[in-house]
Amino acid sequence: MDDLRYQVDLLTALNQKLKAEERMYRLFFDTSMRAFLYINYENGTAETLGSFDKFFDFTINEAARLPELEDYFSEDSVENFRRLIFVEKEGKDRQALDLKLKDDKTWVCVDVSVFKNEAGEPVEKIFSFTDVTKQKQHQEELSYMAYYDYATGLYNRNYFITKLKDFVDKAGERNAVVSVMLIDIDDFHHINDSKGLVTGDEVIQNLGLFIHDLTEDNVIASRFDSDIFCIAIFDPCGHRSVDTIYRSIKEYLSKPMKLTDMTDESVTVSVGVAEYPESSDNALTLINCAEIVMYKAKRQGRDSIKFFDTAILNSFLKEVSIENKLKEAVTGSGFFMNYQPQFNAKNKRLRGVEALLRWQDSDGNLIGPAQFIPIAERNGTIFSIGDFVLNESIRQYMEWKKKFDLNVILCINISSVQYGKPDFVPKVMATLNKYGMNPELLELEVTEALLKEDFKQITDKMLELRDYGVRVSLDNFGSGFSSLALLKGLPVNTLKIDKSFIEGMLKDDASKVIVESVIDMAKKLGLLTVAEGVETGEQLDYLTEHTGCDLIQGFYLGKPTDEAGIEELMLRLV
Ligand code: C2E
Ligand code: MG
Repeated sequence: MDDLRYQVDLLTALNQKLKAEERMYRLFFDTSMRAFLYINYENGTAETLGSFDKFFDFTINEAARLPELEDYFSEDSVENFRRLIFVEKEGKDRQALDLKLKDDKTWVCVDVSVFKNEAGEPVEKIFSFTDVTKQKQHQEELSYMAYYDYATGLYNRNYFITKLKDFVDKAGERNAVVSVMLIDIDDFHHINDSKGLVTGDEVIQNLGLFIHDLTEDNVIASRFDSDIFCIAIFDPCGHRSVDTIYRSIKEYLSKPMKLTDMTDESVTVSVGVAEYPESSDNALTLINCAEIVMYKAKRQGRDSIKFFDTAILNSFLKEVSIENKLKEAVTGSGFFMNYQPQFNAKNKRLRGVEALLRWQDSDGNLIGPAQFIPIAERNGTIFSIGDFVLNESIRQYMEWKKKFDLNVILCINISSVQYGKPDFVPKVMATLNKYGMNPELLELEVTEALLKEDFKQITDKMLELRDYGVRVSLDNFGSGFSSLALLKGLPVNTLKIDKSFIEGMLKDDASKVIVESVIDMAKKLGLLTVAEGVETGEQLDYLTEHTGCDLIQGFYLGKPTDEAGIEELMLRLV
């Protein structure tokens, strides 16, 4: 009897242990976030464990109903699920595949293991189902990012280059043309600075989406860099497609862009075009050529399209050579100054001298400032060049001052890039101090290009200079876009009328009218006027007899010359 009780107690204890263990295993499965399906072919049963109902609202307890699970998978995953159900037929005991459920969103990793009897027949199978949606999305994002630009849906730079190479290869085989258009938003940094990065991104996105709509089998596009887009056209018909695309973009941009912050933004673009095979037979070089002309379009006033040709290539190569020599020259001694006299129109007395920079490059060639100053402005060497001009001309001026004690004005040309630097005014004042020059005898010449920058900052600086007594003149007036109306708010002392008007003055009535009315208006505003480029006695006579022009500068009365030439002139005056 005791023996029987002992047996019962033992069985009860074993049973309790089994229950505890089963509970423990169930907990493992239930908290694993996975679903499991156990199939037993020997007794024809099926059992589920874990989060089975998270994936399937289906109760399965017979092995024969396993194929019904197919209904839960998306169309393109059904076939693979079927392969997993009969995985042993492929000679495998285990296999896992990522499959998509019917909702077309959820990705499940289905992992199946097969257990066989001694005869090699499958007797048990275990399926595990794991939700891998997040990992899949991440993978898809990564592969998207490998080829596309997120903001615009356009190709990214690398993928675009690969595709462009395919176009070039195809064009080689078929004697076709491939055009590459590089499109850059004009003054994009202004949009970013004035309206913020978010608005800047919106402008890029809008234009990008528009460009995306222009793409088709033979037209591919990419966001190439921040605000630069690149379009490639496989074009058996030459220029026509480029023109059509450019016209569409111009038309789209002809109306201001409506932005989500309820403001409008007027956007223009500069476009450079290079073509296979004319410009190059290499995809990367084609892009470089398009870039060269795109920057040329930008420099020549923006909002335009330019096509690459050999003349442009030659001028580019020349610029590159000047640029390289400039960098060397900044540390060397190739620079020196010339000075051109400026005379009082009425009594022809010397009013001042304009300092004009000269450069003899390392090969001994004399290169004119009109050629190298714009390059120096772009590559930043203008700052050291500008420092040299300021120092050297003020030093020279003070030498003359000591020798001849004349109260003539020293005029120095200042690039808008130099003027824009925060330390510009302090630097001028420090140089004047260093040589002991009276600020009232210095006149800084700035060009109209300056007026494209922040008007308030420019005028504030002019007022600061004026407070110190330094004079400011507006050079080459009329050659650009500035108008007389603009002069009203500009604290300048002197207006230099561009030599193109003086040259035309006695040839065409329009130039004559412009010269006369500019002089009249400047007088009313209390400004001195200088006629630049006076080359003949007739021009001089006309200016002195028929206009109230105050000052004359030009080859007729005096060409730019070295220090000795100016000393001779000064010697005659003392
Ligand atoms: P700019 O300031 O308008 O200087 C006058 C230019 O006209 C000078 O050319 C001068 O030689 C030329 N010129 C003077 N009279 C006549 C004339 O009767 N007929 C003709 N055809 N030309 C005349 P340059 O020296 O070649 O200078 C060209 C430009 O380069 C200057 O134009 C100025 O904008 C710039 N530049 C010259 N030196 C400097 C400098 O030190 N710094 C900066 N930032 N720019 C400079
Ligand atoms: Mg000048």
